[in-house]
Amino acid sequence: MRITVVGSGYVGLCTAAGFASLEHEVICVDVDKNKVDCINRGEPPIYEEGLGELLAKAVKTGKLSATQNIGTVKDTDFIFIAVGTPSKQDGNIDLKYIEKASEDIGNFIKNNDATVVVKSTVLPGTTENTVIPAIERVSGKTVGKGFGVCVNPEFLREGKALDDFFNPDRIVIGGYDRESCDRLQELYSSFNCPIKRTSIKTAELIKYASNAFLATKITFINEIGNLCKTLDIDVNEVAEGMGLDKRIGGHFLQAGIGFGGSCFGKDVSALLRKTDESGDKSRILETVLSVNAAQPLRIVSLLEKRADIRNRAVAILGLAFKEGTDDVRDAPSIPVVTELLRRGCSVRCYDPKASENMKKIFPNLTYTGSAAEALNAADACLILTGWEEFASLTDKDFSAMNNRIIIEGRKILDPEKVSGYEGVCW
Ligand code: NAD
Repeated sequence: MRITVVGSGYVGLCTAAGFASLEHEVICVDVDKNKVDCINRGEPPIYEEGLGELLAKAVKTGKLSATQNIGTVKDTDFIFIAVGTPSKQDGNIDLKYIEKASEDIGNFIKNNDATVVVKSTVLPGTTENTVIPAIERVSGKTVGKGFGVCVNPEFLREGKALDDFFNPDRIVIGGYDRESCDRLQELYSSFNCPIKRTSIKTAELIKYASNAFLATKITFINEIGNLCKTLDIDVNEVAEGMGLDKRIGGHFLQAGIGFGGSCFGKDVSALLRKTDESGDKSRILETVLSVNAAQPLRIVSLLEKRADIRNRAVAILGLAFKEGTDDVRDAPSIPVVTELLRRGCSVRCYDPKASENMKKIFPNLTYTGSAAEALNAADACLILTGWEEFASLTDKDFSAMNNRIIIEGRKILDPEKVSGYEGVCW
């Protein structure tokens, strides 16, 4: 099949590289020239495990290329929309990228037939009230006749995006017309998972409800973790005991410094606003956001209980919102660093992949090339991302610190190798 993917970020590029590796002919479209150039050189503009190899191969074999202009695409069976849907200041979804992408696609559809697939996360009603009208207005065609439309939400986890692309738990297809849904289902025919077909609005809500549920689950175990800390109980054992119950399940029961990333916060906020708009209230989601906002700050409070940290050197290990990615959007490291700077601390940080992105937010921190360098002469150390390499740190690595205070926000240190540290909830 010929596939065009509009938006070459974490979702668009992983989707594009995944389909190209399955022998489809894929064209990425992005407004960002730097991204387009990187992709055409076979170099991913983002870090995601395994993406480098997959992309290099796909570009070399001519299965994948990138352009800034969808007008240069010759023929395509599918046009995936994978542009960002960030939050506005008030928490509402910002549709400006969706609107522009839909108009560009409308221009293309004027002279071409294709199935448009909305992969971006959009609130119920967006495809029907924003995407389709924009394409119809610009193309002069009518949905179901001149072009098809499906909603196919993305559930990948950054850091495991390609694994999730090839082995999804489920594929959701929300469709306007049966023919488009059949075509999209055919594209996914080699995938070994349930395919759930729904209406457009239902598919849109499945994505929000899933993210809101996962954010709630994380927040719940964090509250239990906070209680465990005061009762001197290991929350990880509690979570393990809970997770053995099939009705609960062990995933997303790792207590820590809260969720971050580009999706959970913005999607929960958008769903909250949508609920307000409907005349109702979601007290659960309101609480999830406020509990989660406070969670990263607990590690700073714990640190303050141990020592007067004003004007001291604090080593931060891990900046990305989670391991396996260079993404720092909404990362818990941001409020932690902000609080440390407010206390006059000098912050020395190390992250194997995310330092360049963090420099755009905090240009004046000291960024080191290794954990050892960050720890050297530090008065305290906070571990904020569960990068696997931190699991191999030993007492010897921490011995270069001035003052041995070590607090982990993600459970990653090996107690056999490191002594005398504590966790945010354990
Ligand atoms: P991103 O910000 O990494 O990428 C979006 C890309 O779209 C950027 O490269 C941007 O330059 C490009 N773009 C913007 N307007 C464009 C236009 N008119 N034409 C072409 N390109 C355009 O975003 P992302 O993290 O990949 O997320 C994309 C969507 O997928 C969002 O709706 C998000 O909520 C959803 N999603 C993200 C994840 C995730 O883990 N990142 C997971 C599931 C779903």
